Amino acid sequence: MLGATKSVTAPSPTMIRRTRVEVDLSAIIGNARAVRRAAGAQLYAVVKADGYGHGAIQVAWALAGARACDGFAVSLVEEGVALRDAGIELPVLVMGPSQVGGEEEIVASDLTPVVASEEDLGALAHVVHRRGSPVDAHLKVDTGMNRLGVAVERAGELAAEAWRSGIRIVGLMTHLACADIDDPADPDSMTRHQLARFALADRAVVAAGAPLRVRHASNSAGALLFHEARFDLVRAGIAIYGQGSWLERGASDAAALVRQPAMRLVTEVAQLRAIEVGASVGYGATWRAARPSRVAILPLGYADGLPRRATGHAQVAIRGVRAPLVGLISMDIAIADVTEVPGVEVGDPVVVLGKASGGASISAAEYGGWAGLSEYEVTCGMSKRVPRTYVGDVR
Ligand SMILES: *Cc1c(COP(=O)(O)O)cnc(C)c1O
Repeated sequence: MLGATKSVTAPSPTMIRRTRVEVDLSAIIGNARAVRRAAGAQLYAVVKADGYGHGAIQVAWALAGARACDGFAVSLVEEGVALRDAGIELPVLVMGPSQVGGEEEIVASDLTPVVASEEDLGALAHVVHRRGSPVDAHLKVDTGMNRLGVAVERAGELAAEAWRSGIRIVGLMTHLACADIDDPADPDSMTRHQLARFALADRAVVAAGAPLRVRHASNSAGALLFHEARFDLVRAGIAIYGQGSWLERGASDAAALVRQPAMRLVTEVAQLRAIEVGASVGYGATWRAARPSRVAILPLGYADGLPRRATGHAQVAIRGVRAPLVGLISMDIAIADVTEVPGVEVGDPVVVLGKASGGASISAAEYGGWAGLSEYEVTCGMSKRVPRTYVGDVR
């Protein structure tokens, strides 16, 4: 584990490009601890989609090393196997719909399967039969999202069938559709209805004799905004990464959560040029200087995760000052109008996303807003072309 930690913190010596995604592992650890404390429950850190773009392995090493979570949740079997290959020993729950056909691998890698349909149950029973030893699984019930999960009415029956097949239903779960938008004080919200359905499933599964150890329903918003949705365990993703603009709606203990955005997208000024009045910059000549201007050429573009649709809205922070991007964002290059930023030089650091000095920081919500994207899409969409560097004390 220690050797592993060392390799995460060392940036590649062959890294030439100045554009990089910087991930603050101490922020992630701090956020995870804050979520676990606020929820008063076990925490499974959701590290699907390469840890929402932050690097699943590095995030998992940091959280496991700091004992800041009790397990991990992923979507794909492959994502779970990658965690095991990286030496992660904590429980790993495989939540996604694409595990059918992957049961053998799930069991062989000591991952925890989610039974979310009768087909899942049949396929898992087959593997258990072949191996001749029982397997622990979580049963997912559909309480209204109509995406994954078995019907509440069938939950007891399936739990009994699982038991007969050597599958121990040790966890019962559901997923909330509206926790980030519902009013926690509204007794008639979608979330309340889902929790009521979940209680019915719970009763049926217990009555069927399932050896339930944990119940879980909450994503980050459920965990932080809905007391009654916490149960024994919460599955938090976005809050671990320090995002979740719904937190600003501020339920009491959620407000106490230290929310530290963990991702920054940074680059450096590659070139500076003077633009005469009336001259254009970039493809399509979409922007023309209305005054004598100074522009900074930045070595990143849409192939790096700065959406072309953000053209006309995006800003960057240079020397603690916001500067607008001008001209079309291209594949490898963006151009900032730095006419009003005093003293800009080639090599100056440029913050495209994340913490910057003074009031110049750029949140994932703002960055996404330029291109009609959610915070989730911003970090998940950060291109693999951009090298990740890791900072922070991971102990
Ligand atoms: C992705 C996911 C989560 C985590 O959601 P966040 O909003 O990122 O906290 C929790 N549960 C399930 C089933 C998921 O698919």
